[in-house]
Amino acid sequence: MTRKVKIGNVTIGGGSPVVVQSMCSTKTRDVVRTVAQIKRLQDAGCEIVRCGVPDMESARALAKIRKKIEIPLVADIHYDYKLALAAIDGGADKIRINPGNIGSVEKVEAVIAAARRGKCAIRIGVNSGSLKENADFKLGEKSGNGRADRMVASLMEHVSFFESRGFRDIVISLKASDILTTIAAYKLAAKYTDCPAHIGITEAGTALGGIIKSSIGLGILLHEGIGDTMRVSLTEDPEKEVYTAYRILSALEIRKRGVDIISCPTCARTEIDVIKLAHRVEELTMNVEKPLKIAVMGCSVNGPGEASEADIGVAGGRGIGIIFRKGVIVKRVPKKELLKEFEKELKKIAG
Ligand code: SF4
Repeated sequence: MTRKVKIGNVTIGGGSPVVVQSMCSTKTRDVVRTVAQIKRLQDAGCEIVRCGVPDMESARALAKIRKKIEIPLVADIHYDYKLALAAIDGGADKIRINPGNIGSVEKVEAVIAAARRGKCAIRIGVNSGSLKENADFKLGEKSGNGRADRMVASLMEHVSFFESRGFRDIVISLKASDILTTIAAYKLAAKYTDCPAHIGITEAGTALGGIIKSSIGLGILLHEGIGDTMRVSLTEDPEKEVYTAYRILSALEIRKRGVDIISCPTCARTEIDVIKLAHRVEELTMNVEKPLKIAVMGCSVNGPGEASEADIGVAGGRGIGIIFRKGVIVKRVPKKELLKEFEKELKKIAG
Protein backbone atom coordinates (compact mmCIF):
# COMPACT_ATOMS: atom_id res chain seq x y z
CA MET A 1 0.00 0.00 0.00
CA THR A 2 1.46 3.33 -1.06
CA ARG A 3 0.90 6.73 0.48
CA LYS A 4 -1.62 9.12 -1.06
CA VAL A 5 -0.25 12.06 -3.03
CA LYS A 6 -2.44 14.80 -4.47
CA ILE A 7 -1.68 15.98 -7.98
CA GLY A 8 -4.01 18.96 -8.35
CA ASN A 9 -7.52 17.49 -8.04
CA VAL A 10 -6.41 13.90 -8.65
CA THR A 11 -5.18 11.58 -5.89
CA ILE A 12 -2.72 8.86 -6.69
CA GLY A 13 -1.64 6.04 -4.39
CA GLY A 14 -3.17 4.67 -1.23
CA GLY A 15 -5.59 2.39 -3.06
CA SER A 16 -6.88 5.04 -5.51
CA PRO A 17 -7.63 3.78 -9.04
CA VAL A 18 -4.56 3.57 -11.29
CA VAL A 19 -4.39 6.97 -13.01
CA VAL A 20 -3.69 7.19 -16.76
CA GLN A 21 -1.22 9.81 -17.97
CA SER A 22 0.26 10.92 -21.24
CA MET A 23 2.69 13.53 -22.47
CA CYS A 24 2.20 16.28 -25.03
CA SER A 25 4.18 16.05 -28.25
CA THR A 26 3.66 19.73 -29.07
CA LYS A 27 6.12 22.52 -28.29
CA THR A 28 5.07 23.71 -24.84
CA ARG A 29 5.70 27.32 -25.82
CA ASP A 30 2.99 26.90 -28.47
CA VAL A 31 0.11 27.36 -26.03
CA VAL A 32 -2.70 27.05 -28.62
CA ARG A 33 -1.50 23.72 -30.03
CA THR A 34 -0.60 22.34 -26.61
CA VAL A 35 -3.99 23.19 -25.10
CA ALA A 36 -5.75 21.66 -28.14
CA GLN A 37 -3.75 18.45 -27.74
CA ILE A 38 -4.45 18.30 -24.01
CA LYS A 39 -8.20 18.61 -24.72
CA ARG A 40 -7.98 15.72 -27.19
CA LEU A 41 -6.05 13.69 -24.63
CA GLN A 42 -8.64 14.47 -21.98
CA ASP A 43 -11.43 13.29 -24.33
CA ALA A 44 -9.47 10.06 -24.81
CA GLY A 45 -9.44 9.56 -21.02
CA CYS A 46 -6.09 11.08 -20.01
CA GLU A 47 -6.27 12.09 -16.34
CA ILE A 48 -2.91 13.83 -15.83
CA VAL A 49 -0.84 15.40 -18.59
CA ARG A 50 2.87 16.19 -18.77
CA CYS A 51 4.63 18.82 -20.83
CA GLY A 52 8.33 19.08 -21.47
CA VAL A 53 9.99 22.29 -20.26
CA PRO A 54 13.24 22.67 -22.18
CA ASP A 55 13.55 26.45 -21.76
CA MET A 56 12.22 29.49 -19.90
CA GLU A 57 9.74 30.36 -22.64
CA SER A 58 8.14 26.94 -22.17
CA ALA A 59 8.15 27.36 -18.37
CA ARG A 60 6.34 30.68 -18.73
CA ALA A 61 3.80 29.15 -21.11
CA LEU A 62 2.74 26.68 -18.41
CA ALA A 63 0.78 29.34 -16.51
CA LYS A 64 -1.29 30.10 -19.63
CA ILE A 65 -1.82 26.39 -20.36
CA ARG A 66 -2.80 25.67 -16.76
CA LYS A 67 -5.61 28.24 -16.90
CA LYS A 68 -7.12 26.65 -20.00
CA ILE A 69 -7.20 22.97 -19.02
CA GLU A 70 -9.05 20.91 -16.42
CA ILE A 71 -6.70 18.00 -15.77
CA PRO A 72 -3.56 18.31 -13.60
CA LEU A 73 -0.44 19.52 -15.34
CA VAL A 74 3.03 18.08 -14.84
CA ALA A 75 6.20 19.88 -15.89
CA ASP A 76 9.10 17.74 -17.08
CA ILE A 77 12.38 19.37 -16.07
CA HIS A 78 15.97 18.47 -16.71
CA TYR A 79 19.19 20.12 -15.48
CA ASP A 80 18.08 23.70 -14.77
CA TYR A 81 16.52 24.19 -11.34
CA LYS A 82 15.33 27.67 -12.39
CA LEU A 83 12.98 25.99 -14.88
CA ALA A 84 11.57 23.95 -11.98
CA LEU A 85 11.04 27.11 -9.91
CA ALA A 86 9.33 28.86 -12.85
CA ALA A 87 7.11 25.84 -13.55
CA ILE A 88 5.97 25.69 -9.92
CA ASP A 89 5.38 29.43 -10.02
CA GLY A 90 3.26 28.93 -13.14
CA GLY A 91 0.94 26.53 -11.30
CA ALA A 92 2.32 23.09 -12.23
CA ASP A 93 0.60 20.44 -10.10
CA LYS A 94 3.65 18.21 -10.20
CA ILE A 95 7.14 18.48 -11.56
CA ARG A 96 9.21 15.58 -12.77
CA ILE A 97 12.91 15.86 -12.05
CA ASN A 98 15.95 13.66 -11.73
CA PRO A 99 17.59 15.32 -8.70
CA GLY A 100 20.89 13.86 -9.86
CA ASN A 101 20.99 16.23 -12.81
CA ILE A 102 19.57 19.31 -11.06
CA GLY A 103 22.91 20.15 -9.43
CA SER A 104 23.94 21.22 -5.94
CA VAL A 105 22.14 20.43 -2.68
CA GLU A 106 21.14 24.11 -2.42
CA LYS A 107 19.43 24.01 -5.82
CA VAL A 108 17.47 20.88 -4.96
CA GLU A 109 16.53 22.43 -1.60
CA ALA A 110 15.27 25.56 -3.40
CA VAL A 111 13.05 23.35 -5.58
CA ILE A 112 11.71 21.50 -2.51
CA ALA A 113 10.91 24.79 -0.75
CA ALA A 114 9.11 26.17 -3.82
CA ALA A 115 7.13 22.91 -4.26
CA ARG A 116 6.04 23.02 -0.64
CA ARG A 117 4.86 26.63 -1.00
CA GLY A 118 3.14 25.93 -4.33
CA LYS A 119 1.50 22.66 -3.15
CA CYS A 120 3.24 20.95 -6.02
CA ALA A 121 4.15 17.25 -5.89
CA ILE A 122 7.49 16.04 -7.19
CA ARG A 123 8.19 12.93 -9.21
CA ILE A 124 11.69 11.69 -8.64
CA GLY A 125 12.53 9.98 -11.89
CA VAL A 126 15.60 7.82 -12.10
CA ASN A 127 16.67 6.61 -15.53
CA SER A 128 19.03 3.70 -16.03
CA GLY A 129 21.03 5.80 -18.48
CA SER A 130 22.03 8.47 -15.96
CA LEU A 131 23.22 6.82 -12.76
CA LYS A 132 26.21 7.57 -10.62
CA GLU A 133 28.38 4.52 -10.02
CA ASN A 134 28.03 4.30 -6.23
CA ALA A 135 25.02 5.71 -4.40
CA ASP A 136 25.39 6.56 -0.72
CA PHE A 137 22.22 4.62 0.02
CA LYS A 138 23.19 1.03 0.76
CA LEU A 139 20.67 -1.64 -0.14
CA GLY A 140 20.14 -4.41 2.42
CA GLU A 141 18.11 -6.50 0.00
CA LYS A 142 18.97 -6.65 -3.69
CA SER A 143 17.22 -7.87 -6.83
CA GLY A 144 20.09 -9.73 -8.46
CA ASN A 145 19.88 -7.38 -11.46
CA GLY A 146 22.86 -5.07 -11.06
CA ARG A 147 21.40 -2.19 -13.05
CA ALA A 148 18.07 -2.37 -11.20
CA ASP A 149 19.91 -2.40 -7.87
CA ARG A 150 21.90 0.71 -8.84
CA MET A 151 18.71 2.46 -9.94
CA VAL A 152 16.96 1.73 -6.64
CA ALA A 153 19.99 2.76 -4.57
CA SER A 154 20.11 6.03 -6.49
CA LEU A 155 16.36 6.57 -6.12
CA MET A 156 16.40 5.87 -2.39
CA GLU A 157 19.24 8.29 -1.88
CA HIS A 158 17.06 11.01 -3.41
CA VAL A 159 13.89 9.94 -1.56
CA SER A 160 15.75 9.96 1.77
CA PHE A 161 17.10 13.42 1.02
CA PHE A 162 13.64 14.83 0.23
CA GLU A 163 12.06 13.18 3.28
CA SER A 164 14.86 14.44 5.54
CA ARG A 165 13.74 17.93 4.45
CA GLY A 166 10.16 17.06 5.47
CA PHE A 167 8.89 16.74 1.89
CA ARG A 168 6.69 13.68 1.35
CA ASP A 169 4.55 14.49 -1.70
CA ILE A 170 6.80 12.27 -3.75
CA VAL A 171 6.04 10.00 -6.67
CA ILE A 172 8.78 7.70 -7.91
CA SER A 173 9.71 6.31 -11.30
CA LEU A 174 12.45 3.97 -12.42
CA LYS A 175 12.80 3.83 -16.16
CA ALA A 176 14.86 1.45 -18.20
CA SER A 177 14.12 0.64 -21.82
CA ASP A 178 14.40 -3.09 -21.16
CA ILE A 179 11.49 -4.73 -19.44
CA LEU A 180 13.30 -7.08 -17.08
CA THR A 181 15.38 -4.30 -15.51
CA THR A 182 12.30 -2.12 -15.14
CA ILE A 183 10.30 -4.87 -13.43
CA ALA A 184 13.18 -5.80 -11.12
CA ALA A 185 13.72 -2.14 -10.17
CA TYR A 186 10.07 -1.38 -9.36
CA LYS A 187 9.66 -4.58 -7.38
CA LEU A 188 12.77 -3.84 -5.34
CA ALA A 189 11.80 -0.19 -4.78
CA ALA A 190 8.40 -1.29 -3.43
CA LYS A 191 10.30 -2.97 -0.56
CA TYR A 192 12.03 0.26 0.38
CA THR A 193 9.45 3.01 0.02
CA ASP A 194 5.70 3.60 0.17
CA CYS A 195 5.88 6.49 -2.34
CA PRO A 196 3.35 5.93 -5.14
CA ALA A 197 4.92 4.62 -8.34
CA HIS A 198 4.56 6.10 -11.81
CA ILE A 199 5.19 3.14 -14.09
CA GLY A 200 6.21 3.08 -17.71
CA ILE A 201 8.60 1.44 -20.14
CA THR A 202 10.62 4.31 -21.51
CA GLU A 203 11.34 4.64 -25.25
CA ALA A 204 9.19 1.58 -25.80
CA GLY A 205 9.01 2.07 -29.55
CA THR A 206 6.42 2.37 -32.32
CA ALA A 207 2.89 0.98 -32.03
CA LEU A 208 3.61 -2.72 -32.50
CA GLY A 209 6.79 -3.10 -30.44
CA GLY A 210 5.84 -0.42 -27.92
CA ILE A 211 2.45 -1.89 -27.16
CA ILE A 212 3.95 -5.35 -26.74
CA LYS A 213 6.70 -4.12 -24.42
CA SER A 214 4.34 -1.94 -22.39
CA SER A 215 1.69 -4.65 -22.13
CA ILE A 216 4.18 -7.17 -20.82
CA GLY A 217 6.16 -4.83 -18.55
CA LEU A 218 3.32 -2.80 -17.14
CA GLY A 219 1.00 -5.80 -17.15
CA ILE A 220 3.33 -7.81 -14.92
CA LEU A 221 3.83 -4.90 -12.51
CA LEU A 222 0.13 -4.06 -12.31
CA HIS A 223 -0.75 -7.71 -11.81
CA GLU A 224 1.62 -7.75 -8.85
CA GLY A 225 -0.06 -4.68 -7.40
CA ILE A 226 2.70 -2.22 -8.35
CA GLY A 227 1.83 1.04 -10.11
CA ASP A 228 -0.35 3.93 -8.99
CA THR A 229 -0.19 5.91 -12.21
CA MET A 230 0.97 4.81 -15.65
CA ARG A 231 2.10 6.13 -18.96
CA VAL A 232 2.41 3.99 -22.03
CA SER A 233 5.23 5.55 -24.00
CA LEU A 234 4.83 5.18 -27.77
CA THR A 235 6.36 6.79 -30.85
CA GLU A 236 2.81 7.63 -31.94
CA ASP A 237 0.10 10.19 -31.40
CA PRO A 238 -0.19 10.46 -27.58
CA GLU A 239 -3.92 9.66 -27.68
CA LYS A 240 -2.85 6.12 -28.65
CA GLU A 241 -0.88 5.95 -25.41
CA VAL A 242 -4.06 6.63 -23.48
CA TYR A 243 -6.14 4.08 -25.40
CA THR A 244 -3.41 1.49 -24.90
CA ALA A 245 -3.19 2.19 -21.16
CA TYR A 246 -6.92 1.59 -20.75
CA ARG A 247 -6.74 -1.59 -22.83
CA ILE A 248 -4.02 -2.89 -20.49
CA LEU A 249 -6.02 -1.95 -17.40
CA SER A 250 -9.21 -3.45 -18.86
CA ALA A 251 -7.50 -6.71 -19.82
CA LEU A 252 -6.31 -7.06 -16.23
CA GLU A 253 -9.77 -6.05 -14.97
CA ILE A 254 -8.22 -3.25 -12.92
CA ARG A 255 -10.19 -0.42 -14.56
CA LYS A 256 -12.81 -0.57 -17.23
CA ARG A 257 -13.08 2.14 -19.82
CA GLY A 258 -13.66 1.89 -23.52
CA VAL A 259 -14.57 -0.92 -25.82
CA ASP A 260 -13.04 -4.33 -26.17
CA ILE A 261 -13.15 -5.35 -29.83
CA ILE A 262 -13.32 -9.04 -30.55
CA SER A 263 -12.73 -9.81 -34.22
CA CYS A 264 -12.37 -13.12 -35.96
CA PRO A 265 -9.17 -14.10 -37.79
CA THR A 266 -11.23 -14.77 -41.00
CA CYS A 267 -11.29 -18.07 -42.89
CA ALA A 268 -12.77 -19.62 -46.04
CA ARG A 269 -16.29 -18.80 -44.76
CA THR A 270 -15.62 -15.04 -44.60
CA GLU A 271 -18.31 -12.99 -46.35
CA ILE A 272 -17.01 -9.48 -45.65
CA ASP A 273 -13.72 -7.54 -45.47
CA VAL A 274 -13.19 -8.13 -41.72
CA ILE A 275 -9.84 -6.33 -41.50
CA LYS A 276 -11.22 -3.10 -42.96
CA LEU A 277 -14.45 -3.39 -40.99
CA ALA A 278 -12.65 -4.05 -37.68
CA HIS A 279 -10.45 -0.99 -38.19
CA ARG A 280 -13.46 1.19 -39.04
CA VAL A 281 -15.33 -0.06 -35.97
CA GLU A 282 -12.23 0.65 -33.86
CA GLU A 283 -12.04 4.22 -35.19
CA LEU A 284 -15.75 4.77 -34.60
CA THR A 285 -15.61 3.58 -31.01
CA MET A 286 -12.28 5.12 -29.89
CA ASN A 287 -13.84 7.62 -27.51
CA VAL A 288 -16.70 5.49 -26.19
CA GLU A 289 -16.23 5.52 -22.41
CA LYS A 290 -18.63 2.73 -21.53
CA PRO A 291 -16.93 -0.67 -21.29
CA LEU A 292 -18.56 -2.62 -24.12
CA LYS A 293 -17.61 -5.79 -25.93
CA ILE A 294 -17.95 -5.30 -29.69
CA ALA A 295 -17.60 -8.15 -32.16
CA VAL A 296 -16.60 -7.99 -35.81
CA MET A 297 -17.09 -11.41 -37.41
CA GLY A 298 -16.63 -12.70 -40.93
CA CYS A 299 -19.75 -14.83 -41.37
CA SER A 300 -23.29 -15.09 -40.10
CA VAL A 301 -23.10 -18.87 -39.69
CA ASN A 302 -20.61 -18.92 -36.81
CA GLY A 303 -20.06 -15.22 -36.09
CA PRO A 304 -22.95 -14.31 -33.77
CA GLY A 305 -22.71 -17.61 -31.92
CA GLU A 306 -18.94 -17.42 -31.43
CA ALA A 307 -19.27 -13.84 -30.17
CA SER A 308 -22.43 -14.38 -28.13
CA GLU A 309 -20.96 -12.52 -25.15
CA ALA A 310 -20.55 -9.33 -27.24
CA ASP A 311 -22.86 -6.44 -26.35
CA ILE A 312 -23.08 -5.62 -30.03
CA GLY A 313 -21.55 -7.07 -33.15
CA VAL A 314 -21.44 -6.98 -36.91
CA ALA A 315 -20.95 -9.90 -39.28
CA GLY A 316 -20.94 -10.59 -43.00
CA GLY A 317 -23.75 -12.60 -44.57
CA ARG A 318 -24.52 -13.69 -48.15
CA GLY A 319 -24.84 -10.33 -49.90
CA ILE A 320 -25.84 -8.59 -46.63
CA GLY A 321 -24.43 -7.45 -43.33
CA ILE A 322 -25.94 -8.35 -40.00
CA ILE A 323 -25.99 -6.66 -36.63
CA PHE A 324 -26.42 -8.75 -33.50
CA ARG A 325 -26.65 -8.21 -29.77
CA LYS A 326 -25.67 -10.93 -27.30
CA GLY A 327 -25.67 -13.44 -30.14
CA VAL A 328 -29.15 -12.56 -31.43
CA ILE A 329 -29.52 -10.97 -34.89
CA VAL A 330 -31.33 -7.63 -34.57
CA LYS A 331 -30.88 -6.25 -38.13
CA ARG A 332 -30.09 -7.41 -41.65
CA VAL A 333 -28.87 -4.57 -43.88
CA PRO A 334 -27.17 -4.08 -47.25
CA LYS A 335 -23.40 -4.35 -46.77
CA LYS A 336 -22.76 -0.72 -47.71
CA GLU A 337 -25.11 0.44 -44.94
CA LEU A 338 -23.65 -1.82 -42.27
CA LEU A 339 -21.44 0.77 -40.58
CA LYS A 340 -24.13 3.45 -40.57
CA GLU A 341 -26.68 1.05 -39.05
CA PHE A 342 -24.08 -0.21 -36.58
CA GLU A 343 -23.48 3.36 -35.41
CA LYS A 344 -27.22 3.83 -34.80
CA GLU A 345 -27.43 0.62 -32.76
CA LEU A 346 -24.26 1.52 -30.89
CA LYS A 347 -25.69 4.89 -29.84
CA LYS A 348 -28.62 3.07 -28.20
CA ILE A 349 -26.31 1.19 -25.83
CA ALA A 350 -23.20 3.41 -25.54
CA GLY A 351 -24.99 6.21 -23.66
FE1 SF4 B 1 -14.46 -18.04 -40.22
FE2 SF4 B 1 -16.91 -17.15 -39.60
FE3 SF4 B 1 -15.22 -17.94 -37.62
FE4 SF4 B 1 -14.74 -15.68 -38.96
S1 SF4 B 1 -16.54 -16.09 -37.66
S2 SF4 B 1 -13.25 -17.27 -38.50
S3 SF4 B 1 -15.45 -16.17 -41.02
S4 SF4 B 1 -16.11 -19.23 -39.24
